[in-house]
Amino acid sequence: MAIIKCPQCKKSISDKQKVCPHCELDMTNLTEEKLASMSRISSLKHNQNLQTYQFIAMLIFLAGCFSVYTIEDKESPQYIAAQASVVIGFIWYIVNRFIIIWSKKRS
Ligand SMILES: [Zn+2]
Repeated sequence: MAIIKCPQCKKSISDKQKVCPHCELDMTNLTEEKLASMSRISSLKHNQNLQTYQFIAMLIFLAGCFSVYTIEDKESPQYIAAQASVVIGFIWYIVNRFIIIWSKKRS
């Protein structure tokens, strides 16, 4: 018995299993072609998710920047929250950027 990855949900399963216990994919009549198209679809979905996260991170960053410049009371909790969202948005964006570059290099 070997542990393989389900072509649809990418979770670890036994190669003896005929149906994936996580996503209920039927493994009995999978052709090479079907496997290739499934792996292409799942990597496309993965990239789409990463781009969505990157977009959200950028929005948080920009909203934070805007708030930092427009809030006049520099001691207020809103100002601290704005600064935090600049930092969080920036870090999230950079991390996502690295993941996208890394996953492109791998494929
Ligand atoms: Zn599965």
